[in-house]
Amino acid sequence: MSTDHVAFFDTTLRDGEQSPGCSMTTQEKLTMAHALEDLGVDIIEAGFAMASEGDFAAIATITQAIRKPRIASLARAKTEDIEMAARAIQFAGRARIHVFLAASDLHLEYKLKISREQALDLTGESVRLARSLVDDVEFSPEDATRADRDYLVDMVRIAVDAGATTINMPDTVGYTTPEEYGAMFREVRQRIPAIDEKGVILSSHCHDDLGLAVANSLAAIANGARQVECTINGIGERAGNAALEEIAAALFVRGDRYGVSTGIKLDKLYPTSEVLGQIITFKPSPNKAIVGANAFAHESGIHQHGMLANPLCYEIMTPSLVGVSRTHLVLGKHSGRAALRHRLEQLGFTVSREELQQTYYRFVALADRKKNIYDQDLVGLLPDSIRERRSEPVSELD
Ligand SMILES: [Zn+2]
Repeated sequence: MSTDHVAFFDTTLRDGEQSPGCSMTTQEKLTMAHALEDLGVDIIEAGFAMASEGDFAAIATITQAIRKPRIASLARAKTEDIEMAARAIQFAGRARIHVFLAASDLHLEYKLKISREQALDLTGESVRLARSLVDDVEFSPEDATRADRDYLVDMVRIAVDAGATTINMPDTVGYTTPEEYGAMFREVRQRIPAIDEKGVILSSHCHDDLGLAVANSLAAIANGARQVECTINGIGERAGNAALEEIAAALFVRGDRYGVSTGIKLDKLYPTSEVLGQIITFKPSPNKAIVGANAFAHESGIHQHGMLANPLCYEIMTPSLVGVSRTHLVLGKHSGRAALRHRLEQLGFTVSREELQQTYYRFVALADRKKNIYDQDLVGLLPDSIRERRSEPVSELD
C-alpha cells in the first residue's frame, strides 16, 4: 500500500449508530456492512463489543459475512473490554481492536477520575494486551484536541512503543479548526520519530459541532494522516461525524491539492447513502453536499441556461460521478402535467389520469407561492393513498 493511500475507516455502525434515531438491528447492520464493502471502505468499525449483547452479535455476524474490509471493535482501556472485542472479531479475515482512553484533563479528572500517570500506565497495558490478541491495534487518545500537547505526545509515544499500529487523534467534541488540527498532526509526527520508523498510521476522527468536521479531516490528511474516520451522511454523536461522501468527493475533485488515492468507488456514494436513509429514521437534509436531494438541482433562469450550454458552468462534478441520477429538471409553475407525471414516475409513483389532475392543481397552487418545487415538496402534495403505492425510484444514470 503506497504512502499516498488514505484508508477510509467507516464508523457508521458504531459512532453513527449510537446517535438518536440511528439504532440498527443486526440484520440492518449487516445490510449496511455489505453496502460499505461494495463502496470500498478499508475498515468497518462494526460496534463496541462490550456495550451490549446486540453489539457483540452484530460484530460477530459481520465478521463472518464481510471479507474485504478489516473489521474493528471499539474497546475501553479495560481488560474485559479488550478481551470481549477480541472474541467478537475472532473469525474476521482481518481484524482490529480499537482501544480508546481519555487524554484531556477534563475527561481524566471528571469522567474517569484517574491521574495523568494512571492513564499513561493504562495506555501501555491496554495496547500490549490488545496486541497479544490481534496484530492490528488502533489507539485513540480521546478528546485529543483539548489535551495538553506535551501530555498527548507522551501518551501517543507510549501507545506506539506498546505496539499500536494506528494512532487516531480524535476531535471528540468538534472543537478544533483546520489550521490547528493539521498542525497537531505535524507536531506529533515530528516529535515521535517512531511513528514513521515503524510505519504507524495516523488517523483523524472529527465531529461537526462547528461544521468543520470535513475541513478538519482534510487538514489532517494534508499533514500526513493516512486514515480518516467518517460516517455515511455524516451521522454520529450530536452534530455528527465527518461525512464520508464529502471527504471522498473532495479528495477526488481537488486531487490537485491533495494528491492521495483512496479505495472508494465514487459512484457508490449516493446508493450507499440511500441504503442508510432507508434504515435509519432520517435522510440527509436536501441541501446536504453530494447526497442531498438538491445537491444537483438547478433553479431555472441563468443557472439552467448555463447548464444547458455547458454543465461545467455550475457543476464541479457530474451527478453520475457520485451515483446520482441525472441533474434534476426543476419543476415550476410553467411546467405541465406531462413533466409532473414524468417526475412522479422517476420518484416511484404511478398515478392515474384523475390523480394526476388533482395533484396538478395542488402543484400549481404551490408553485404560485414557491419559486422552486423540490422532490420532497412533490411527495408532500400526494395523498397517503398514492404514497403507500410507492415503488423503487427509477435510477437514471447519465
Ligand atoms: Zn466520535
